[in-house]
Amino acid sequence: MSASSAAINQFPCVNCGANTVFGPGTGSMLCAHCGHAEPVEASPAPIVENDYKATLAQAGTAGPVAPTSNAGKEIQCKNCGARTMSSKQAERCAFCDSAMVVELPPEPMQLPQAVLPFEIKRDKAQELFVTWLSTRWFAPFKLVARAKREGLDGVYLPYWTYDSATVTDYRGERGDYYYVTVSYTDSNGKQQTKQERRTRWSNTSGTVNVDFDDVLICGSKSLPAKLVVDLEPWDLERLAAFNPKYLAGFMAERQAIELAEGFGLAQVRMEPRINEAIRRDIGGDEQRISSTDVDYRDITWKHILMPLWLSAFHYNAKVFRVTVNARTGEVSGERPYSAFKIIMFILMICAIIGGIVYLIMRAKQPQ
Ligand SMILES: [Zn+2]
Ligand SMILES: [Zn+2]
Repeated sequence: MSASSAAINQFPCVNCGANTVFGPGTGSMLCAHCGHAEPVEASPAPIVENDYKATLAQAGTAGPVAPTSNAGKEIQCKNCGARTMSSKQAERCAFCDSAMVVELPPEPMQLPQAVLPFEIKRDKAQELFVTWLSTRWFAPFKLVARAKREGLDGVYLPYWTYDSATVTDYRGERGDYYYVTVSYTDSNGKQQTKQERRTRWSNTSGTVNVDFDDVLICGSKSLPAKLVVDLEPWDLERLAAFNPKYLAGFMAERQAIELAEGFGLAQVRMEPRINEAIRRDIGGDEQRISSTDVDYRDITWKHILMPLWLSAFHYNAKVFRVTVNARTGEVSGERPYSAFKIIMFILMICAIIGGIVYLIMRAKQPQ
């Protein structure tokens, strides 16, 4: 089967014909029925970088576009809007725990060029999640107990990466320090002198070159921005060329951010490094940048998938999300606070303060 013929597909076991799924950390397709493990063959083709301007000129027709297979279902959440593909029927949205999911008619999807396959197994992720939650201050007891019981969803998040060789013309000012001697009258009425620092500003302009490789932009809008940032860093040097087998047994979210919108966000991510290069180029003791004109040359892009274990749960009518980076095991998330534990903590602090005050008062009493 070629990589471009299906997104989420079924892969029967060569031994017994039962359905197999990708085994995190094994690099193989595993059969739960007979235990057979079949290594996923490495793609001989290198990971493709697509030309950005050519893609825009073709208006989204670049890259291998294929319909999702019959086995791959795509659902959309009416609550948060996430569109996920999966070989299984899902009753709830993995991103917001809403039951309002509808199945979408089959629609072509642009296949990713590369993927970071799942490395952390579900059991391990579950263990990391429970440990994380139980070591949070004031986490509700009930929730820790529930986290031990409930499963996590394995989801691939869509990302864009952009490369560009930037050439920036700038105008600005360079500030150089110098010192002057000023006289003043001290508190005794005596004339004194002291050194004072001044800045001499001079106009300047120039050009800086900064090359960017794999500027990462998350193509999902289903997770809060903070959680997306917390998932980084990703080991991009270990990206594997896309093979639909890596998706078997997991969900994959469809890009919610378009290619051009993503490049706009990438420009924002590139800006601090360009400004830093300009400041170095200006030199002196202080710098002011008044205008910049960035030329983004040789722009290329890739669509890639990153693996994470996700728990979205309701607590007191609010939704909370916890993510486990399925490459590194790094846990981050939102969590509720237990009012009971906080009140108990405050009462304990009050009791300690009360005790100290009592001891002080008693010590001050005349014997
Ligand atoms: Zn089998
Ligand atoms: Zn949702």
